[in-house]
Amino acid sequence: MNPVYSIIAPIYNEVENLPELYRRIKEAMESSGETWELILVDDGSTDGSTERIHEMANADARIRKLIFARNFGHQIAITAGWDHARGDAVIIIDADLQDPPEVILELAKKWKEGYEVVYAVRAEREGESWFKLWTASLFYRLIYRITDVKIPVDTGDFRLMDRKVVDVLKQMRERHRFPRGMSAWVGFKQIGVEYRRAARLAGVTKYPFRKMVKLALNAITSFSYFPLQVATFFGFFSAGIAILAIPIVIYMRVTGSQAFFGQATTLIAVLFLGGVQLISLGILGEYIGRLYDEAKGRPLYILRDSSDA
Ligand code: UDP
Ligand code: MG
Repeated sequence: MNPVYSIIAPIYNEVENLPELYRRIKEAMESSGETWELILVDDGSTDGSTERIHEMANADARIRKLIFARNFGHQIAITAGWDHARGDAVIIIDADLQDPPEVILELAKKWKEGYEVVYAVRAEREGESWFKLWTASLFYRLIYRITDVKIPVDTGDFRLMDRKVVDVLKQMRERHRFPRGMSAWVGFKQIGVEYRRAARLAGVTKYPFRKMVKLALNAITSFSYFPLQVATFFGFFSAGIAILAIPIVIYMRVTGSQAFFGQATTLIAVLFLGGVQLISLGILGEYIGRLYDEAKGRPLYILRDSSDA
């Protein structure tokens, strides 16, 4: 029999958080009086989380494990969770207890009112550096402005989705993914529920700046052509200036006024245009690289072990 709720927790070196995660989820879900499963996706942990997950899955039949062969990244771990979830409602939650498990019950309430995607909105955040807060805030707003899908701001991956939605998402096999964008893209009846995002229980963030930039690039390239259009814009802009400059320079030459003495001006113009061209090429490269990755058609993740095997 399939459970009512599937809770997916991606785990990358979270061994200290696992017992408390389990305890809090169990307590919250048992108070709902409905059936549930907890899917622990081990994203190539090296700190003993893997062994811990094996033990937990052996001790409680409601816990299912998906053990990756290496670190594939948070978004891919979520995807593996979607692929294996059996519940009527599927919840994604961080393993570090920044997303309080008790909020799942509030999300479920909205689901029972008929909403098919219930996302948790971060009304407050505790225990995070100003740099993280600032970059996150900037990121959400930038994405909101330039992507074609309206992705709710201040919203992470913490959300509940109806089975219907998850079945659609499972068909979307793109490699460079941005799950919260995908879940906005599919449509359906969506609503946000505000919550207080707590501080991380133990350990440090598994999202260093490098991974944040990668996520941002995935978000932008997956949902927008804006960067490509910027290149076009710069092209027209530079060409426009050149066209305006031609008659002016001819006029100056003919009348004998010597406003430009050559070298410095030429150098700056060449450097500027060279820079713009290289940046445009780089942007093009981002899209082409992603295209190439898709063409290879490799599996999104590799399981070394799972409860289903
Ligand atoms: N995570 C993962 N793979 C990674 C990085 C992170 O599965 O490569 C998991 C991590 O264990 C946590 C969740 O994704 O459960 C969110 O990561 P984290 O809390 O480090 O991000 P932050 O909250 O600092 O943005
Ligand atoms: Mg966290």
